[in-house]
Amino acid sequence: MAATPLYKTQELKIYNSISGQKEVFIPLTEGNIGMYVCGPTVYSNVHLGNCRTFISFDLVFRYLKHLGYKVRYVRNITDAGHLENDADEGEDKVAKKARLEQLEPMEIVQRYTLDFHHVMSKFNTIAPSIEPTATGHIVEQIEIIKTIIDNGFAYVSNGSVYFDVQKFNETNNYGKLSGRNLEDMIANTRELSAQTDKKNPQDFALWKRADPQHIMRWPSPWSDGFPGWHLECTVMSTKYLGERFDIHGGGMDLKFPHHECEIAQGEAACGQTPVNYWMHANMLTLNSKKMSKSTGNTISPEELFTGHNSVLDKPFDPSIVRFFMMQAHYRSILDFSNDALEASEKGFNRLMDALHVVERLEASSKSEGLDVAAWRSECYEAMNDDFNSPILIAKLFDAVKFINSVKEQKASISNDDLELLRETMKGFIFDVLGLVDSNEVSSDVGDKLSGTVELLIKLRAEARANKDFATSDKIRDELLEIGIQLKDSREGTTFLLN
Ligand code: AMP
Ligand code: ZN
Repeated sequence: MAATPLYKTQELKIYNSISGQKEVFIPLTEGNIGMYVCGPTVYSNVHLGNCRTFISFDLVFRYLKHLGYKVRYVRNITDAGHLENDADEGEDKVAKKARLEQLEPMEIVQRYTLDFHHVMSKFNTIAPSIEPTATGHIVEQIEIIKTIIDNGFAYVSNGSVYFDVQKFNETNNYGKLSGRNLEDMIANTRELSAQTDKKNPQDFALWKRADPQHIMRWPSPWSDGFPGWHLECTVMSTKYLGERFDIHGGGMDLKFPHHECEIAQGEAACGQTPVNYWMHANMLTLNSKKMSKSTGNTISPEELFTGHNSVLDKPFDPSIVRFFMMQAHYRSILDFSNDALEASEKGFNRLMDALHVVERLEASSKSEGLDVAAWRSECYEAMNDDFNSPILIAKLFDAVKFINSVKEQKASISNDDLELLRETMKGFIFDVLGLVDSNEVSSDVGDKLSGTVELLIKLRAEARANKDFATSDKIRDELLEIGIQLKDSREGTTFLLN
């Protein structure tokens, strides 16, 4: 009989940005989850701020899988339609880069998609189940625009198609995600400039007629043009997850207008709201300002791993940076600094050392010092409380303290608890937090060390059998001096790394 999935015994709560509350998570189909996360616009190398958002959702993906859910995780690649300043006017970000570098737009897309994948794998993120591109779904985007026009929520103007926000707001609620009110938006916007084809400034493009110099263009019933930025996510989420799905994520800065427009498009096209749980990850800051490509206030993953940057004193391993990110809740702002990373490095090493110790710990007849089963429940409670990784890490450090006490024989652990402790620690550290034990220089070196110490233990046993106590004591004492402690028991001799 298959084991009961964990999700049946755990109550996960997710902070839903649209209600502003933590809600008990109930998927549309038991045991299955559809999750969509807005991916990168591939016109430049990702910076560490972008990475934080994707690592935050990697934690979510990992924990949902850990709970036993079958998750279809869709994260798109934006390779067309994202204009400068996230606006409806201006050059396409990819096309602009192609123009500046005298390359084909698809060469730009390929280069930065590869960079993105490389960086994501350095951070040990799990690849999404589907990674669709905007340019691969032009036909579907045209189809959904036709539906929105037919439903009366969009109009054609001079070869472009715009979403009619005021019309939509008569029957629906434009602004419900971002907490904005359309009347206020209207009151706070300036008059439309003469060049625009929009009826109202709040309207947004579903399709744009391309100027002659715009190279990324496709035929459509309205003009040779390109899709609006918000539309691709509606189309790709609907295509792969259905008209209604469980979780939609992205960075906090995408809440408005991008996600607000996605809701409007979904409701206008399908007659139902597309997403049950909206999740927004908070920003990574540098010098207390948002890390952002446009202001140049960034640090790249490459600069971080090589140490070639003006912020850090030395290079840092991706796992330490990942641990640093996990030490903050995904909805909190996180400031990046040398001191913070150094502190994370110390914590990370302490955690990894304890993992090595726990592998060699000896069990006693009973546990004293930590109720392991209760501690395990608290680890789950932390993650069930809207993926609270900092609390989880605090719990892991409770275990570290306990492990070190057992090592120093100030506490004890039973066989069953030892198994549970090891399994829980590893499950959370590797599977859920996605950390990699970079300290274990390589398991190969570890194996060789064990082999060498085992050999010395054998030689010591032979010396003792020959009553050559000078040699046997020398082996024991000199090993201790370099931090390897031999422990004799009836079952034989084992060793501990101090
Ligand atoms: P983009 O490539 O600009 O479409 O952004 C990709 C993702 O990175 C989006 O989900 C953004 O919200 C996110 N993002 C951008 N800047 C930051 C930042 N400083 N901290 C966290 N996430 C960010
Ligand atoms: Zn999106």
